[in-house]
Amino acid sequence: MSDGLLLEEMTWPEVAQAIGAGRTTVVVAVGAIEQHGPHLPLLVDAARGDRLAVEVATRLGDALVAPTIRVGCSEHHMGFPGTLSLRRETLEAICLDYAVSLARHGFKRICFVPSHGGNFGPLAGMLEGLRAAVAPDCRVDAYTDLLGFMDFWQAGVGGHEPDLVARVGGHADIAETSEMLCIRPDLVRRERAEEGYVKTFDQELMDRIFGEGFRSVTPNGILGDARGATEQIGEACIRAAADGIVAALQA
Ligand SMILES: [Zn+2]
Repeated sequence: MSDGLLLEEMTWPEVAQAIGAGRTTVVVAVGAIEQHGPHLPLLVDAARGDRLAVEVATRLGDALVAPTIRVGCSEHHMGFPGTLSLRRETLEAICLDYAVSLARHGFKRICFVPSHGGNFGPLAGMLEGLRAAVAPDCRVDAYTDLLGFMDFWQAGVGGHEPDLVARVGGHADIAETSEMLCIRPDLVRRERAEEGYVKTFDQELMDRIFGEGFRSVTPNGILGDARGATEQIGEACIRAAADGIVAALQA
């Protein structure tokens, strides 16, 4: 379903032709390489970003997909082995260089879509600078509502398994594990899926995670509960997130 949308798989004449034909929006997912509990690989947010960007671009209709920024701001996950983290200014520099490059080729709108919680705040903070760097030829937008994103997952899980909505915690939980069953099932260690720290994802929890680090809240790295994940829930979560993000970008 990503046929013809992925910038990095196209030739330059194909890109020129697409822009000339009005495909002047480009979607950039901003992911992470970080711990995702004992049952999921570090690439979860990068792989989910690849899929989300395609879903968003397909819905926008006039869009291509730029390569996902695979590593993000994950300082709060550094307590777990393997996590890679960019400083805020590094991520901003990468986003800025993406935006300027894309604008120079004639793209008129660049949409940054975070697929990792730690990137929402940095993206919101850099948006003004990105806009100034490419103005007035190009418009830069980003989806930056992390609590809104949690609502999409609750809707996705709730639509299939209303009794399991409390297992949505925001990280390596039933929603994210289900998405990975759709995207990279070969990398899901189903037998290791377990309960983590179960509490509604709200502002207070967000402050704790970003302030004290993930490990102080959840020793196994899961927020929520990973048990009960299914492909059907995963597709519903992907759909809800893509629909919600596109609605916000179009508003
Ligand atoms: Zn994640």
